Amino acid sequence: MSDGPQVTFNEDERLNLLRELCLLDTPADSILDSITKVCATVFNVPIALISLIDDHRQWFKSKYGLAVNETPRDQAFCAYAIHGQAPMVVLNAIEDPRFVNNPLVKSAPNIRFYVGVPIVIEEDKCIGTLCIIDSIPRQAFSPEETQLLVELCSMVRERIKLLSTVGYFDALTQLPNRTRFIDDVEALLHRPMGAEPLMSIAVDVCGEEYFRGVTKALGWEYAETMLIAAKEKLKKTLSPYTLYRISTTLFAVNVEASKAAVVVQEVIKTFAHPVEHQSIPYRFDMTISSVLPEQCQDPKDVVRALVTTVDLARHHNLEFLPYEKSLEDAPRHAFNILMAIPNALTSCNELSLHYQPKVDLISGALVGVEALLRWQHPLMGCIAPNLFIPLAEKTALMRRITSWVLDQGLKQAAEWQAQGHTFSMALNVSAVDLDSDQFLARIQGLIEAYHLNPSGIEIEFTESALIANPMATLQRLQVLRHMGISLSIDDFGTGYNNLYFFKMLPATALKIDQSFIRDLQFDPRNIIIVKSLIAMAREFGFRVIAEGIESEAVYKTLRDLGCDDGQGYWIARPMPRLQFEKWLQGRKA
Ligand code: C2E
Ligand code: MG
Ligand code: MG
Repeated sequence: MSDGPQVTFNEDERLNLLRELCLLDTPADSILDSITKVCATVFNVPIALISLIDDHRQWFKSKYGLAVNETPRDQAFCAYAIHGQAPMVVLNAIEDPRFVNNPLVKSAPNIRFYVGVPIVIEEDKCIGTLCIIDSIPRQAFSPEETQLLVELCSMVRERIKLLSTVGYFDALTQLPNRTRFIDDVEALLHRPMGAEPLMSIAVDVCGEEYFRGVTKALGWEYAETMLIAAKEKLKKTLSPYTLYRISTTLFAVNVEASKAAVVVQEVIKTFAHPVEHQSIPYRFDMTISSVLPEQCQDPKDVVRALVTTVDLARHHNLEFLPYEKSLEDAPRHAFNILMAIPNALTSCNELSLHYQPKVDLISGALVGVEALLRWQHPLMGCIAPNLFIPLAEKTALMRRITSWVLDQGLKQAAEWQAQGHTFSMALNVSAVDLDSDQFLARIQGLIEAYHLNPSGIEIEFTESALIANPMATLQRLQVLRHMGISLSIDDFGTGYNNLYFFKMLPATALKIDQSFIRDLQFDPRNIIIVKSLIAMAREFGFRVIAEGIESEAVYKTLRDLGCDDGQGYWIARPMPRLQFEKWLQGRKA
């Protein structure tokens, strides 16, 4: 048909709304499919459709009795129906000059009877129709039938509204969400060849951790309105581009690649000035990342690339960092390591404990061993505890690891105690372990199960254990002490040193960190520090142990400074059980 249906008077707005609803080319929806099926049954027609009128086509969001997904707009009956607010009834198409020559009338599906009810979402904006079609003409379509079809159409409208709000919108900011962002990136990736490349840009307005802090300190309402204030500012700066919220504090936008640099500068400029929020001038500490969607294999990877890069940028205090493939290697490796831990915990040969001797610096006698975790992964090889423990500490896996170490270590300690050895067994625990009473129960249970003498057991912890909840942690340490277990403060002199809590620690020993020990004899400042630490430990009644003794000179210096015990490669490296037992026998001999 050459003189097909005209465009609607508000065609641009109508099409914009259709796009915003994100319905075109989406998978079938079971509720909408039920409605078209009901239509076909109650009106006794072979075809019922939900047709969306796009630029040059009608696309069927739901179709009953029709095989094709779309037909050209200029043949669509529905393209006429969307002009009015009322149902369009065609009883016999060959008697209607608008349709007599229509290919859909002249050949399959040989339309004769058609009724289409416009789907009006917002005032005057009609996106398509719910329609019924038959190849047999009718004499009439009663007002009752019309009314029923109109009611079914309002169900269609409500369903479409619900789909667009629940699936694609972020309730807090009223912005399209991550799912919508991913779908849009996908659509952008399928644009015709030669279209200008696009850049996805993410703006993290304050960092999730900070946001949680604000929530805890000032409450949800304040935190959320603060986020909305940031959104408003961003939306203004980034207009006319569509702004998305892709995670708690992360907003995103797709812009022409050639304009990306300018857009980034604009955002930086905008946030350079404080934002007034509830009368408090507030400066957002924002970070930006960008990625060319073509750099990623899948649209979902675009989000991952943006998040990884923005986190890295924040970590390194950068305002802006563009994505590069190599940036992902470190986090992905970390992710692979984390994913492999559960398997390691259940496999019988990936994890093991090595034992490093601690000796009395004067007599040279063995006073204890420190159990150190080793992980031999079948593909990744040997993974250092300094790599996987800090990762596990951020997850619930740490407790399972500690549980494994406690079980293996205490079983071994029981075996050595039964053989008459008196050296102690030291086990390392993480701050998170001391966060709950579970740990106390577990250790108590194992001591009883293995008939252990608790005075031969030592727990090494670092002062970081006291950061989160110092009083509760101190109490748990007291409980361990009352059980008869010894307590060592590990890596002393680095990190968190709060003397207020230090004076309350029920510890028995203090381990001076390796960084002060390694080349002690060459650095007079380290000698001063070590001397003072020894003096302080004495005052508190702690034994002092130096870790990282790598030479005889350091050993002797420490002994002369009055340090009690020592541990280090020069004395012995951490060893598997059998090797350690051999080492022990060799010393006796
Ligand atoms: P840490 O508890 O301070 O353990 C001492 C670390 O220093 C060990 O590293 C040990 O092999 C190393 N070391 C000992 N003597 C020397 C020396 O003379 N020179 C040098 N350069 N290093 C020496 P490792 O086994 O790699 O463990 C590193 C850290 O991982 C440990 O530091 C501890 O914080 C953690 N870790 C190890 N096993 C466990 C565990 O079972 N549980 C927990 N929570 N953490 C563990
Ligand atoms: Mg240790
Ligand atoms: Mg240490």
